[in-house]
Amino acid sequence: MLQFEDALMPPLPTLGLQPAVPNTGRAAPAPHPAPVSAPAPAVHVEPFSRVRVEDKRVINGTADVNQLVPFKYKWAWEKYLSGCANHWMPQEVNMSRDIATWKDPHGLTDDERLLVKRNLGFFVTADSLAANNIVLGTYRHITAPECRQYLLRQAFEEAIHTHAYQYIVESLGLDEGEIFNAYHEVASIRDKDQFLIPFIETLTDPQFETGTPENDRKLLKSLIVFSCIMEGLFFYVGFVQILALGRQNKMTGAAEQYQYILRDESMHCSFGVDLVNTIKLENPHLWTPEFREEIRALIQTGVELEYRYAEDTMPRGVLGLNAPMFKEYLRFVANRRCQQIGLDPLFPGASNPFPWMAEMIDLKKEKNFFETRVIDYQTGGALSWD
Ligand code: FE
Repeated sequence: MLQFEDALMPPLPTLGLQPAVPNTGRAAPAPHPAPVSAPAPAVHVEPFSRVRVEDKRVINGTADVNQLVPFKYKWAWEKYLSGCANHWMPQEVNMSRDIATWKDPHGLTDDERLLVKRNLGFFVTADSLAANNIVLGTYRHITAPECRQYLLRQAFEEAIHTHAYQYIVESLGLDEGEIFNAYHEVASIRDKDQFLIPFIETLTDPQFETGTPENDRKLLKSLIVFSCIMEGLFFYVGFVQILALGRQNKMTGAAEQYQYILRDESMHCSFGVDLVNTIKLENPHLWTPEFREEIRALIQTGVELEYRYAEDTMPRGVLGLNAPMFKEYLRFVANRRCQQIGLDPLFPGASNPFPWMAEMIDLKKEKNFFETRVIDYQTGGALSWD
């Protein structure tokens, strides 16, 4: 029978793998003898040791990233499990009422139609940006396998969100060119994306590596921009708008999809916050007063950009909502993001004009849709070995 000891595996440095030789405590046997005329080159084998919890780090770790356990970052694993438990697919939501409303000349006002189109105009590309940022950027810089496991789930959820927005655009028969190009053609949407691009480019640059305080701060900054500003602020005007339509019994299919997306996104934001706080804990030297001020300034810019987007989507006020209400809301949300990552609030005293949003975020699984889905996935996905 083949024993592990029969052959020495060469090191696989490009994958960061340790040799597949168990730590038996015995001396490794010599490699197979080579012909005398061609002496075997010396094979350097790193000493093998099992992954120890204390060796794991969220960034700049050296423990094998292929071993999920032993767990160190249990919070990331729990979030992965919660994400899986909340699985949904866009085509499971009935869009027939939305289609009838959109086709009916009296179904929506012109302002409401503009709001829906500008809203989708941001979202149809936003989740692709988020997915690309994870897959091509963030993922490779994170060395904790529990966190990578969550990021894999998150990347798929971003794909589901892009699917959901495309499904709404298709269901309503909107002009795809107009909606999908809005991030080039509508200034308030373009400005939000252009704010994000440099932070994506930092992480996706093949030359970029962590390991110096300067680069570790660049990574941390990008993580904060994505979790606290992109997913934690730039999505919120849009979420409130469509959910407010749903509360008035309009576009209820779209509103249901946004509700599931909001729940996923609040988990993405919460994971990002935990990731940032763990990196801070493991690398306290990164969190200098200057760096904190830099982050606060970025969040302030994020609030201004999102407010301009609110004005652009609701030039006259619609649905009982108007742009100034969003100014207060964005300040409230920005304070919350600051507090979550340990910064002083930017707008002390800001209050929440949309308290009903909290219920939307805390969507519970009792909702019939999910009861049905959970059962369906369990039966539909079961394998039979008979
Ligand atoms: Fe997300």
